[in-house]
Amino acid sequence: MEVLRLEDYKNLGFNVRDTFGNYISYYKDGKWDEGKIQKEDTITISAFSTALHYGQQAFEGLKAYRTKDGKINLFRVDENAKRLQNSCDQILMPKVPTEKFIDAIKQVVKVNEELVPPYGYGASLYIRPYVIGVGRNLGVKAAPEYIFGVLCSPVGSYFKGGLSPVNFVVTDRDRAAPNGTGQVKVGGNYAASLYSHRQAKEAGYADCIYLDPLTHTKIDEVGAANFFAVTKDMTFVTPSSSSILPSITKKSLMHIAKEYLNMNVEVRDVYINNLDEFSEAGACGTAAAITPIGRIDYHNQQHVFYSETEVGPVTRKLYDTLTGIYFGDIKAPEGWITQL
Ligand SMILES: *Cc1c(COP(=O)(O)O)cnc(C)c1O
Repeated sequence: MEVLRLEDYKNLGFNVRDTFGNYISYYKDGKWDEGKIQKEDTITISAFSTALHYGQQAFEGLKAYRTKDGKINLFRVDENAKRLQNSCDQILMPKVPTEKFIDAIKQVVKVNEELVPPYGYGASLYIRPYVIGVGRNLGVKAAPEYIFGVLCSPVGSYFKGGLSPVNFVVTDRDRAAPNGTGQVKVGGNYAASLYSHRQAKEAGYADCIYLDPLTHTKIDEVGAANFFAVTKDMTFVTPSSSSILPSITKKSLMHIAKEYLNMNVEVRDVYINNLDEFSEAGACGTAAAITPIGRIDYHNQQHVFYSETEVGPVTRKLYDTLTGIYFGDIKAPEGWITQL
């Protein structure tokens, strides 16, 4: 196995690296087995599995962070457990009990303890839980059996040269339907987003922005991240919609804005034609924590928020507070951190 040296932690991207093992548990005859750690990141399943044909699968994403004193922090892992249960429910997969979910993640982090990057590089251990429908099945229906697994890989800080704004373009395509699966973390939404993601990339943008699929007048999501903005009178605003995936990062930022930064918080419609009400904007999710939005292009209009080159002061405070909590430098609200 490739051993990471200190120097490597500065240059880690978001890629798969060799690890010491991953967790796997099987669901058969109505119950989950004990689960175990396996060495290889391969699984053997029937090619008839519903996960492969009908998209019966869901996943999660969270990170383990190394603190200054060498401990390991998991951030709001119970929230990931709950969200995965909701995803499973919506696509007829058996739920993974919260206790089993957290235990599996702890096992994976423990065997890969050496791969949790050292404090001070903004790097972390990315953790990827998943549930897939498996077994021999042809008709369109829920699978007879399931696998719950947890993979991981050390990943670098999203912003190598420090936090900086990026530009987005509004797409005419939709990633989810108004009453579809936009609010659950299933692969189908991602398959639906690949085309517009590539279009945006090829046009030189970081990613695309999706408008609400019903009226195409309001901001829904920013690629695979949630949107937030800050008004001139210090209100933290984030869109209200039934097709947005409820980001745990966003939920946390709403709390931070209110309790740490004394801001007002509003969940409401954000009209693409009324961006002038905001002084700053960003995308949020586990991968980057916060991605400051410099500019949004929509048809022939260009809207610059704070600046295309500099990060706004409120965005920076939100980012510093959130990442400070991740790495144990700032006191977390009760129950947010699970220490290993
Ligand atoms: C996972 C995900 C997010 C971010 O959620 P976090 O819990 O903050 O990581 C946002 N949008 C979509 C579509 C997602 O799949």
